[in-house]
Formats: sequence, structure tokens, C-alpha cells
Amino acid sequence: MTDTTLMTIPGQVDPVPIARDITPRADGRIDLIGLSRDRIRELFTEAGLDPRQAKLRAKQVFHWLYHRGATDFAQMTDIAKTMRPWLAERFVIGRPNVVEAQHSSDGTRKWLLRTDDGHDFEMVFIPDADRGTLCVSSQVGCTLNCTFCHTGTMRLVRNLTPGEIVGQVMLARDALGEWPKGRMDGLGDEDAGHYTADGRLLTNIVMMGMGEPLYNFDHVRDALNLVMDGDGLALSKRRITLSTSGVVPAMERCGEEIGVNLAVSLHAVRKEVRDEIVPLNRKYGIEELLQACADYPGASNARRITFEYVMLKDKNDSDEDARELVRLLKQFDLPAKVNLIPFNPWPGANYECSTPERIRAFSDIVFEGGISAPVRTPRGRDIDAACGQLRTAAEKKSRAQRDREAAAAKAKAEAKA
Ligand code: SAH
Ligand code: SF4
Repeated sequence: MTDTTLMTIPGQVDPVPIARDITPRADGRIDLIGLSRDRIRELFTEAGLDPRQAKLRAKQVFHWLYHRGATDFAQMTDIAKTMRPWLAERFVIGRPNVVEAQHSSDGTRKWLLRTDDGHDFEMVFIPDADRGTLCVSSQVGCTLNCTFCHTGTMRLVRNLTPGEIVGQVMLARDALGEWPKGRMDGLGDEDAGHYTADGRLLTNIVMMGMGEPLYNFDHVRDALNLVMDGDGLALSKRRITLSTSGVVPAMERCGEEIGVNLAVSLHAVRKEVRDEIVPLNRKYGIEELLQACADYPGASNARRITFEYVMLKDKNDSDEDARELVRLLKQFDLPAKVNLIPFNPWPGANYECSTPERIRAFSDIVFEGGISAPVRTPRGRDIDAACGQLRTAAEKKSRAQRDREAAAAKAKAEAKA
């Protein structure tokens, strides 16, 4: 058993169904998405291939699935023609189901996705001049109840599987048409090397969608390993950021076993305030959290830790708060940058966003303290696409209405094909 399975989850406790790496399917076939090369090889052996064949086929199939984005075994041209139906009888290549896809006027795109067992979650793509960031969910709902976060008002339904997590990135590449086009049989292989970010839209990933990624540690790690695998999605760990509300006992493992950039949702510098807005603070306090940041493996001046700070009017936005923030980050000698996030209101929220003048004054004090503190521009507001505030618009529609719309969209796509 791993540390994370033994760890108790604070906050509202829901019965969480046992997480599985494979979601069983009614037709008995197995979805390969989310599985490692070794797991695929094991399944091929169990299905009757001899060990040498299983190893070779697993390597080829892995490349087709994760590097090339194949969604059909028939596309796997270096695998014998007779072998392809054998694969299709036993396995499938899944993607999350798309319930709804929205475009914002600023280019932000949001997808409402549904698991095979009918739970909805979201993913957002935010294009910028020099990069494109995909905001990925790790859980349906969240056990933590941060008072300013809309996801915090939902109970945790379940952890997403590795397939459902890496599946978000794969679906985004499908939608953006960004799979490398090289050929594995060596004929006219125009990109045998690693995936590069040059000229591509999707260059960065942030684990900032629904859920607390460090409470779904194993699945997030397995999914990100597929994203970082040179023969998989081949995205550098330097382009991936995991955001945590401060699950101290899992932070060191995160640095060691995943090794991605860390973002910490600090949001307050005084105990009473952080206890209120990020209740996990009652379990792991500010000093303990900052010490875990100072110890984070891989943090350096070249790879600074991001501290997220949501600007809440008259709650955490005073000049004293800004000065205390600088003092704390210096006390722990942290290679830090601060992201000031204007609060994104949602119906029923008990907070207001700080005024633009207040946010600027706060930012100036932190900058003067020698720490970068840019104000994050809200993106995709017309489609409620802000990270941490997902699912709002979707919930305004009834489930039945969305089902009808999804069926209509599918019929339309089929009519076109
Ligand atoms: N659970 C993780 C990651 C998901 S939340 C975490 O808390 O870090 C991603 C980010 O969005 C967090 O910094 C979160 O505090 C922020 N956020 C949540 N609700 C928000 C809101 N209404 N307005 C602005 N930022 C919000
Ligand atoms: Fe969960 Fe993060 Fe929202 Fe807090 S801010 S409730 S940890 S998703």
C-alpha cells in the first residue's frame, strides 16, 4: 500500500468508491488509455501472446496510442493486418465523452466532459501569444471546502482514473489537430525525434481544474508519466505545473516521483484568514506548508514555486497582508513568484473581488519586496472558464437538456461524415 492510500482525507468525508486503474466496460473489452507500456504488455500476455511478441506489440501500440494519437487499431500500419482485429476484439482506445464544447470571445475553449459512468468534469484551454495552457481536472468534485471556490461546494464524487486524466490532454490534441505526423515504419518519417513545442498551440499543462491533485496522487502521477514519456505525449516536465491547496505530506513525493513545477494555493498569510478560506490550513498550517515548499525537490531560482493568491475584498488584500507575504517568502528563503488572481465570483459566493486599485497596490508592494507578483488576467469569463470555477454554466442546464444537445451534436457529426 502506498502512503497516499493510508492518508486520511480531511474536510467533508464522502464514501469514495475504490479507485481502479481500469474502468470495466459492459462489452468486456479493456480501454488501453491510461495504461503504461508494462501494463499493456501484461494484458497482451494474458490474452495469449508469447512474452517476446507481447513486449514488441506493447511498444508499438504504446507509441501509436500516446505519441501518434491513434484512435483505431486499423491505423497501426506497422502491426500485421491480421493482428489488428485481434486487438480490436479485446481492447478499445478511449477518450472522455464530450458533452459540450464552448468557445470564448478571447479564444479560451472549455469542454464539459463525462466519464463512462456518467460523471461530469471540465477541461479548459487558454491560448496566449507565446504559449497555450490546458487546465486539467484530477477529481470530480473536491473533498476540501475552500470557501471562495465553486468546486469546493460540490461533494467529491470520485477520483479520475489515469486514463481520464491523460485522456483530457489527448482529447485536446485531437481537437487542436496536434498529433505528430511521423511514420513508425521509417518511410518518410518526418518527425522521428521528440515532440517539440515549436509552432504548436498546446504547450503547457496545469493541474488546476476540478479537484485536489495530491489527493489523487497515484493516478495523477501515472497520467503525468504518460504525458512526459518521450515516446508518449513527450511534453517536458518544465511545462507542467501541479497546483495544490497544501497537502503537505504528499509534496515531497510529488517532487520526487513526478518532478513537475509546483504551484501552491496560499491565498492568505494570517492563520485566522487561511483557516477560513482554505480549511485544510487547520491541518497543515502556513509555516509547515512553507517549509514543505522550501524542501520541495527540484525547486530553484530557475524553477520557482508559484504562490497563488486570490484577491478577496477586505479579506486578504491589505498592505499589511502584502508585506507579511513578502516577509514569509523571504523567511523561508523561497525561490518564489506570486500570481495574484482576481476573485471570480459565482452565484451564492460570500466574497467580492478586490478593486483593481487595491490589487495594483498589493502587487506593487510585493514587487518592491523583490518578488514577482503579476496580476493574472481573467480569461474566458463569458463562458465561466476560470480555473477553480468549473462546471458553473453547465449546472444551470438540466442533465436531460445536455443529453439532448449531446445526442443532437452527435447526429449532426454523423450526418456530416
Ligand atoms: N485544488 C487545487 C487545484 C485546483 S484549484 C488547488 O486548490 O490548488 C486551481 C486554482 O484556482 C487555485 O489556486 C484556486 O484557489 C483557484 N480558484 C478557485 N476558485 C476560484 C475563484 N472563484 N476565483 C479565482 N480563483 C479561484
Ligand atoms: Fe478543492 Fe482547490 Fe477548490 Fe480548494 S480551491 S475546494 S482544494 S479545487
